[in-house]
Amino acid sequence: MNMDHSKIPQATAKRLPLYYRFLKNLHASGKQRVSSAELSDAVKVDSATIRRDFSYFGALGKKGYGYNVNYLLSFFRKTLDQDEMTDVILIGVGNLGTAFLNYNFIKNNNTRIAMAFDINKDKIGTEIGGVPVYDLNKLEEHMGGNIPVAILTVPAQAAQSITDRLVELGIRGILNFTPARLNVPEHIRTHHIDLAVELQSLVYFLKHYSMKEGSVK
Ligand code: ATP
Repeated sequence: MNMDHSKIPQATAKRLPLYYRFLKNLHASGKQRVSSAELSDAVKVDSATIRRDFSYFGALGKKGYGYNVNYLLSFFRKTLDQDEMTDVILIGVGNLGTAFLNYNFIKNNNTRIAMAFDINKDKIGTEIGGVPVYDLNKLEEHMGGNIPVAILTVPAQAAQSITDRLVELGIRGILNFTPARLNVPEHIRTHHIDLAVELQSLVYFLKHYSMKEGSVK
């Protein structure tokens, strides 16, 4: 199972957590093997893509047998570093930020929001979903350079200057929920989730394309 993870294409890597979650459920229900057709049906990825993805993991399904659930699970656990907890910070404890703090990825057991930041005096010093909310002016003090990921749920106009500070502090990845497009150095990864745009594009697809085309990702 030793392999070079940089050889896994990014599109495949993005589907890993999806496969992992489904396989955990299968394992919990006592299933030993699964076919690519079953997987395809459950995770809504076509079975040719699944077979290609799994071939990168060294998991070769056998005709009429399928994939070994235990093998895949231990592979995913190692690959996704499930034993290693990744601390995340959240900046902007408004409506969306508060919802994340209350949810706090408990079902996803390798990440947790360790602390949150805001500039609103009424929010600073409180605790939401067990997560302390600190003053953003004291970001440098609290972060101490060892938190790799930040979630941004601030107003768009505040996003870039906060990002610049995070970059200074050695952040490695940013999950950006603001509508702002962020400028970051090349070695930093940003994932942009603009909920309004996602919703609008879904509605657009429903109006202009057939369901079949629209559901292909
Ligand atoms: P709310 O109902 O609490 O205002 P919201 O999500 O509708 O939430 P936004 O204006 O999007 O409000 O602000 C989100 C959060 O980001 C708020 O808690 C706000 O205090 C905080 N915030 C605003 N500007 C900044 C900033 N420059 N730095 C950090 N946090 C900020």
